[in-house]
Amino acid sequence: METTTQCSVLIVGAGISGISAAKLLAENGVEDVVILEAADRIGGRIRKEEFGGVTVELGAGWIAGVGGKQSNPVWELARQSNLRTCFSDYSNARYNIYDDSGKIFPSGIAADSYKKAVESAITKLKNEESNRDADVSVLAETPTVPKTPIELAIDFILHDFEMAEVEPISTYVDFGEREFLVADERGYECLLYKMAENFLFTSEGKILDSRLKVNKVVRELQHSRNGVSVKTEDGCIYEANYIILSVSIGVLQSDLISFKPPLPKWKTEAITNCDIMVYTKVFLKFPHKFWPCGPEKEFFIYANERRGYYTFWQHMENAYPGSNILVVTLTNGESKRVEAQSDQQTMKEAMEVLRKMFGPDIPDAIAILVPRWWNNRFQRGSYSNYPIHINHQLIDDIKAPLGRIYFTGEHTNEKFNGYVHGAYLSGIETSEALLEEIRTEKERNGENKAFLVDPLLAFTGSLALAQPDVVSNLHAFNIPRQLFLRCSSKPRLPEAIL
Ligand SMILES: Cc1cc2nc3c(=O)[nH]c(=O)nc-3n(C[C@H](O)[C@H](O)[C@H](O)COP(=O)(O)OP(=O)(O)OC[C@H]3O[C@@H](n4cnc5c(N)ncnc54)[C@H](O)[C@@H]3O)c2cc1C
Repeated sequence: METTTQCSVLIVGAGISGISAAKLLAENGVEDVVILEAADRIGGRIRKEEFGGVTVELGAGWIAGVGGKQSNPVWELARQSNLRTCFSDYSNARYNIYDDSGKIFPSGIAADSYKKAVESAITKLKNEESNRDADVSVLAETPTVPKTPIELAIDFILHDFEMAEVEPISTYVDFGEREFLVADERGYECLLYKMAENFLFTSEGKILDSRLKVNKVVRELQHSRNGVSVKTEDGCIYEANYIILSVSIGVLQSDLISFKPPLPKWKTEAITNCDIMVYTKVFLKFPHKFWPCGPEKEFFIYANERRGYYTFWQHMENAYPGSNILVVTLTNGESKRVEAQSDQQTMKEAMEVLRKMFGPDIPDAIAILVPRWWNNRFQRGSYSNYPIHINHQLIDDIKAPLGRIYFTGEHTNEKFNGYVHGAYLSGIETSEALLEEIRTEKERNGENKAFLVDPLLAFTGSLALAQPDVVSNLHAFNIPRQLFLRCSSKPRLPEAIL
């Protein structure tokens, strides 16, 4: 049987952006909030699991951007929770590159290949830039195409990791260049529980507040000038004055949530134009370790003629001494391929690679863990991956509110998309914009009552269908975005109709 719940603000998704958005609303008196989370837990892409006797992070693992003049807000949260972390130094990975016969490439060759790859990447960037600006006179040299296993391995590290963003990288500029791996048995997610404690009723580390509803998969979102209404997979209906959607860009691209009326073209085009990175950490547990440990050995690389094939490895001895765990990182095509096959097959492939690097006598892995972010219908990928030369309009369109629908999440943060701190800050920014809108609406309505918007004012029957719908009319006539755009942090409806 359908049940209907009403509130001021609905938040879809209890990842870090949803939780930080809810916390800010609560701190500003908007406590009549309901958070709907599809999974059976909070955290989203911050997710721990017990594996091989320790806690591993299937999603976000690092706090990136530490040690600068400005403090990373997530580093601050980590300090408040005494989160155990350890410093990661990737800079030596390029000197630990193994070939197929288990030899490490001499450091001179590795350094030269690295330099060549960086120069080539820069040439490519310059070419793309001048192509974009149509300045053909500047068209420079052709970037070299990586061919040999070492060139392919370095190209993979550069493009899928280090230079996935164009310099200067805001995270490092603003917060510093150091990165810390979370190695805490409470998991990275304990930062979210700590935040939730401030505004949700919790007991013994569990959230017991009825405003958080887990296992609630939003499938339908109706919206109009008066309010919003969502329907979950189990047939419940929630109505509110406003909604904050914190689902990933992958979910927005999928058909998990249907919008009534449909989102306008400028919004769907922007959503479609944002790429998604699939990033998979495969964990392997061994009876004992056989890889080199000690300083500068944490990361190592396997060079193969197939780009990205079990290329980037990390041992977990720094994080958890004696854990005997290796992690290999796959991306995009390789991630999708491995997600589609059995874990036994993945273990077999990984063992073949390890035997090439460390010889035939190494022991078999005794356990494997393969996260499946791409096939998870509540994620559909790992994080947004904007084009190197970011088009500001694209990101503005992705985050722009649409009437009473506010969009948040890492993908809406122009400076720090793809990161935990980007998601955290986006939640705050979205709630600030919504609070401003609630204040404005209150002034417009000339209300002298409580600060909270009374949801019942908006819901006199089936709200979304009761009135002629401004949003759908705009959509139907395909009115250009500019005509009803006030500013990107405001809902995109003209003043006159609000
Ligand atoms: C493998 C991996 C490695 C990463 N590594 C790092 C790293 O080292 N450092 C770093 O800073 N960042 C890293 N990130 C990125 C970081 O995890 C994300 O940027 C951040 O956690 C995103 O938070 P969010 O709140 O925007 O989204 P999410 O955490 O995805 O939250 C959205 C929530 O919405 C829920 N949801 C989806 N659909 C529905 C629906 N229909 N109804 C109800 N609920 C729904 C989801 O279940 C989810 O809980 C990594 C991510 C991955 C996947």
